[in-house]
Amino acid sequence: GYQRVLEENRKLYNQVQDLKGNIRVYCRVRPFKPGQSNTLSSVDHMDERTITILTHSKNGKEARKAFTFNKVFGPSVTQAEVFSDMQPLVRSVLDGYNVCIFAYGQTGSGKTHTMTGPKELTEEGLGVNYRALSDLFHISNQRKETISYDISVQMLEIYNEQVRDLLSADGVNKRLEIRNSSHNGINVPDANLVPVSLTSDVINLMNIGHKNRSVCSTALNDRSSRSHSCLTVHVQGRDLTSGNILRGSMHLVDLAGSERVDKSEVVGNRLKEAQHINKSLSALGDVISSLASRSSHVPYRNSKLTQLLQDSLGGQAKTLMFVHIAPEYEALGETISTLKFAERVATVELGAAKVNKDSGEVKELKEQIASLQAALARKE
Ligand code: ADP
Ligand code: MG
Repeated sequence: GYQRVLEENRKLYNQVQDLKGNIRVYCRVRPFKPGQSNTLSSVDHMDERTITILTHSKNGKEARKAFTFNKVFGPSVTQAEVFSDMQPLVRSVLDGYNVCIFAYGQTGSGKTHTMTGPKELTEEGLGVNYRALSDLFHISNQRKETISYDISVQMLEIYNEQVRDLLSADGVNKRLEIRNSSHNGINVPDANLVPVSLTSDVINLMNIGHKNRSVCSTALNDRSSRSHSCLTVHVQGRDLTSGNILRGSMHLVDLAGSERVDKSEVVGNRLKEAQHINKSLSALGDVISSLASRSSHVPYRNSKLTQLLQDSLGGQAKTLMFVHIAPEYEALGETISTLKFAERVATVELGAAKVNKDSGEVKELKEQIASLQAALARKE
């Protein structure tokens, strides 16, 4: 009785969320580093959906600025809790949706922690990439009497506007082309596409990918923070009764660090890298905000990243922009610019544009929720 009503209530709520739009923005705040607990924080307050930042106004007085998102995760939220929130999104890939999940933020804010996990990986530390694939294996296995699924993965890096294969056996030096074919859509035909069915397959592949990525870095030159890495999961399902085929894909993207580099301080390669990163992150922001505002022209062609993901951004595709914040007060400038980026891709979506088509349905679901809530209230 009671449990069922609660469950029903939650399901309806999620449906309303689904109808509201395909672009979600989450924010996660990294904890302080060990031994740093007395450091001044730029975060004044957090609740489920709002984060308030402590700033200083020009006359030196304290000031606060609040940002609202679909979800805010504080520093004590675990990897499992973060994933459980994303689970419905991840599972929709098995129903034929295209999904993009982006980790955005300055270097050191926790992007790789969220997507992959800490350097010394433990079971609890496993990031979204591992949990997502394990979950897809689990659910596809549950459905095996009715649908037969094939799951395969690719792992690419975009560095200085060049695409490379992180799963290549002979290193990552070859530059790859992004193609657009009528039957396959956007693809990178020369990148390895590896079938996977066990979590251990995924762990092995990710290890190869990480090794390939770090070969290109030196101690002073951590390339991983200046390139985008993209784990793509391709799913094909065959309905065993009808023979119908459905296809879904999911891109899990650990973006390059969003920090602004002082142009007067870097030259040569570093300046070139910084310019490429700036260009591709702002191209991504432009694409998402023009999708959210339903603009008729979406500028996919302005960067390799948006070209690569063109099929999976917009239309019926679902996008999650997951921004990361470092709590230290010294990071305030970058924190504000990260939150502004996030706000730019979020507020438009939270506006009215999207709802038109489904407004009748949303209204109906809301009425059902209200009546279920009334039923709950009577029980209490
Ligand atoms: P980025 O990929 O954005 O450069 P990292 O993910 O490498 O940042 O995070 C920087 C450091 O902070 C790493 O040592 C990481 O393990 C740690 N860290 C980040 N987020 C968390 C978190 N939520 N909980 C615990 N440690 C974290
Ligand atoms: Mg990283």
